[in-house]
Amino acid sequence: MKPYSLPDDQGHFGQYGGSFVSETLVHALDELKRAYEKYRNDPDFQNEFAYELKHFVGRPSPVYHARRWSERLGGAQIWFKREDLNHTGAHKINNCIGQILLAKRMGKPRIIAETGAGQHGVATATVAARYGLECVVYMGSEDTRRQASNVYRMKLLGATVVPVDSGSRTLKDALNEAMRDWVTNVENTFYIIGTVAGPHPYPAMVRDFQAVIGNECLEQMPAEAGRQPDYVVAAVGGGSNAMGIFHPYIDHENVQLIGVEAAGEGLDTGRHAASLNAGAVGVLHGNRTYIMQDENGQIIETHSVSAGLDYPGVGPEHAWLKDCGRAQYVGVTDEEALQAFHDCCRTEGIMPALESSHAIAHAVRLAPTLPKDKIILVNLSGRGDKDMHTVAERSGISL
Ligand SMILES: *Cc1c(COP(=O)(O)O)cnc(C)c1O
Repeated sequence: MKPYSLPDDQGHFGQYGGSFVSETLVHALDELKRAYEKYRNDPDFQNEFAYELKHFVGRPSPVYHARRWSERLGGAQIWFKREDLNHTGAHKINNCIGQILLAKRMGKPRIIAETGAGQHGVATATVAARYGLECVVYMGSEDTRRQASNVYRMKLLGATVVPVDSGSRTLKDALNEAMRDWVTNVENTFYIIGTVAGPHPYPAMVRDFQAVIGNECLEQMPAEAGRQPDYVVAAVGGGSNAMGIFHPYIDHENVQLIGVEAAGEGLDTGRHAASLNAGAVGVLHGNRTYIMQDENGQIIETHSVSAGLDYPGVGPEHAWLKDCGRAQYVGVTDEEALQAFHDCCRTEGIMPALESSHAIAHAVRLAPTLPKDKIILVNLSGRGDKDMHTVAERSGISL
C-alpha cells in the first residue's frame, strides 16, 4: 500500500475539499499555502511550535487506562487520550498555536475567527493575548446570549466579540461574516479557522497541527499499554480532534478508526448534527463535503446537546475516509452522551466535555462486545466544566 499522502496540490481528498472562494481570497489563500509549505519544514518554526505546546499548553497529554470502567463493562480495555488536561481545557489550542505562529511570520497583526459555542473563540483570544495581536471574534447573537460566559472570557483576554444579527444568528452566519471581514481586510488579517474545514490549505494545515495528538499516542500506547490500540474513537463536529488522532494511524491498517457524530434527538427526527450519517454532498465554508441541507440546498439548523458538535458540515477528509471505508462514522444521541458523561464522572473521576462524551458513549457500547485483550483508545477532546449548566438543566437542577 502507498503511504497516505492526501490532499493533492489543489486540496482535494477525492471529490471533496478544494477551494470555493471569491476571487479576492484566491491570492490570500495562495499566500497562506506558500507560507505553510515553507514553515512546516522549517526547524525554527517546528521548534517554536513544540516549545509552546510543551510550556504553554502543557503537552504531552497522558494516555490513561479507564481500568475500573473497563472491568465493569467486562470487555475490551478503554483508554483515554487526555486532551482535557490542556491549557484552556481542550484540543483546540494546539491548532491555534500553530496558526498564530504562522500569522506572526507572515507579518499579519490582526487575527479574526468565528465561533459557535465560543470554545474556538476562547482558544483564539488566548493565543492572540499570548502574542500581543489584535483579535476580533464573530459570533451569532443567539450564541452570544446562550454562551455569555465564553463571551466574557474572550473579552477578559482582550478580544473584541462582534455579535452577528443576520440569518438564524448562529455559527453559519458568523462564518459568513468572518469570510466577509477577511475579504475586506485581507492585507493585514489572518483568519484562524478552528476545525479541519474551510478552503485549502486549512483542512490539511489544521490536521497537521492537531496530529500531535495521534503522534503522541503512537509512542505512548506501546509504552503504557504494550501495543497500539485496536480501535481509535473520536467525536466529530467539524472533525479536528478526530483527524488529529486518526491521521498518524491511517497507515496502520489493523487499527479501526471510528468517528462519532451527534445524533441529537435521533437520526430519524431531523434534529441532529450528523452530516456524514444523514447529510448530503454540497459546498460550505469554501469546500465540498457532506453538509446538513434541505432539498433547496439551504443549510439547516443543527441540533446537539453539545454546542461544540453543532457544525452544519464536516471536514472534507472525513468525507473521503468515509467513502473509501478507511474510517467508519456512527451516531450517538443526546441521551446516550449524557449517560456517558455521568458514568464517566462517577466511575473514573473525570468530567468529560459533552462532545467527548459522545465518543466515550460509543466506546462503552463497543467494549462489552469485544474480548478483554482488545484496546479502544478514545480521544477525550476536552473537559466538561463548561457543560455543567447544560447537564444541570437537563437534570432539572438550577445552579
Ligand atoms: C470544538 C470541540 C469539539 C468539536 O470540534 P472538532 O473540530 O470536531 O474536534 C470536540 N470536543 C471539544 C472538547 C470541543 O471543544
